Amino acid sequence: MSDIVDGLTIPTSLYIGGTWRSSSDSSTFPVVDPATGETITEVANGTAEDALACVDAAELAAPVWAATSPRERSTILLRAFSLMIEKKQQLAELIVRENGKAMADALGEVQYSAEFFRWYAEEAVRIPGEITDSPSGQNKILVLRQPMGIALLITPWNFPAAMATRKIGPALAAGCTAILKPASETPLTALAIGQILEDAGVPPGVVNILPSRASGTVANAILHDPRVRKLSFTGSTEVGRTLLAVAADQVISCSMELGGNAPLVVCADADLEVAVEGAMVAKMRNGGQACTAANRIYVHRSIADEFSRRLAERMAGLNVGSGLDTAVDVGPLVNLESVAKVEQLVDDAVQRGATTVTGGARPDSPGYFYQPTVLTDVDPQSQILEEEIFGPIAPVVAFDTDDEAIEMANGTIYGLVAYVFTQDLARGLRISERLEAGMIGLNRGLISDAAAPFGGVKQSGLGREGSHEGLLEYTEPKYIALDWSE
Ligand code: NAP
Repeated sequence: MSDIVDGLTIPTSLYIGGTWRSSSDSSTFPVVDPATGETITEVANGTAEDALACVDAAELAAPVWAATSPRERSTILLRAFSLMIEKKQQLAELIVRENGKAMADALGEVQYSAEFFRWYAEEAVRIPGEITDSPSGQNKILVLRQPMGIALLITPWNFPAAMATRKIGPALAAGCTAILKPASETPLTALAIGQILEDAGVPPGVVNILPSRASGTVANAILHDPRVRKLSFTGSTEVGRTLLAVAADQVISCSMELGGNAPLVVCADADLEVAVEGAMVAKMRNGGQACTAANRIYVHRSIADEFSRRLAERMAGLNVGSGLDTAVDVGPLVNLESVAKVEQLVDDAVQRGATTVTGGARPDSPGYFYQPTVLTDVDPQSQILEEEIFGPIAPVVAFDTDDEAIEMANGTIYGLVAYVFTQDLARGLRISERLEAGMIGLNRGLISDAAAPFGGVKQSGLGREGSHEGLLEYTEPKYIALDWSE
């Protein structure tokens, strides 16, 4: 246990079969505060042996949990929601410590995360089934939805609480047991949520938590065990591709929430205040480290200068520093590699002729910071428009026609989310229909909602999380042909 945050129990060991324990080889790894570069604590480092112990525990718990009444599962999830809200401030502080994001972002994340427990508490008692007549009239078609079985859940560091609850909530509601492998940068939030689930009454083995630096090794061990039937992964497209190949060996059902490269299109008739505000939200949530972050800002040429001026003014006014200071708007990036990547993307854009309107450098302070930056006149061939930036950089590109904006917006392997700003609703809907993305923010920079289907098209993912669809990802339809005619 660690006492990093007053009033919050933060285990630092593995959670297997309802027991907190060290790893089989007793190894640990450090968790670092990105605002200072200092180690916060050490966490148990799960091994392949521990991974299989998680599968054993999940298997033992599976039949009992699947047979629990939907109301009982719902009540436990609702209790977990209440406990998270009760501990909101402490959980937010923990997220700031290990992830770096600003306190307001962390508080928002805890609320958003808890909502997945509440939403799936409500969905647990509404699992659908159906009965229809066969077209031949000779029999009935009865379809039941059954839990898929043991699920491996792998989460990233950028939303250490929300990405965990967005998976645990529907898995438990559906009657599955789970193994959560959190990101090595941010395992503490997942472990604190594990403690909350235990306190809420989740039985031993239903949720197992396996922090590990050997992510490939533990995932391989679990995905090659024939008892495991589900993989839900959130992270980069690169790692997603690798995991899809591994999961293919046992033909495991996969839900994939992968990378994004979101375009934000500002039409000539947009309300500039609304568009700038929307761009700030879409770009700067989590300091730009979100899969939904506006990565490429396309603005109609007639308003591009004025939009960039106002955006730069807002970005320059942001307060950068440790997220623990409530006056801070933007915390550090998660690690030094992220800072180096952002620096390289900005350098490449500038070398190709981009103008730095504000920012464009690391501030002179310890920790992994980068200044909020606006670039204009960005060459369409720049790397910064092709890769996820994952930092506080807003590249602006001017366009002349809607067709041109849509073509540029769709010119990527990604298709998670896109944003459109216009005062003409019909135009906005026409553009939304043509954008290749799983989600659209129309005159809005924030789209995340536990009740909405979150997910991408193209190489941004497979399947959806949140909404009733998120629960179906953890169920298998079973068809029973029957006939009760005389
Ligand atoms: P990442 O490097 O892909 O890691 C994600 C998770 O996968 C971590 O738990 C990581 O563990 C694990 N992992 C890494 N290599 C693995 C392997 N070979 N086998 C099994 N697991 C492996 O992504 P990240 O840097 O944490 O997160 C940022 C990415 O997530 C961005 O691309 C972002 O767009 C995406 N994301 C997508 C969504 C969405 O809903 N679509 C939401 C949030 C983030 P270790 O930490 O131990 O390496």
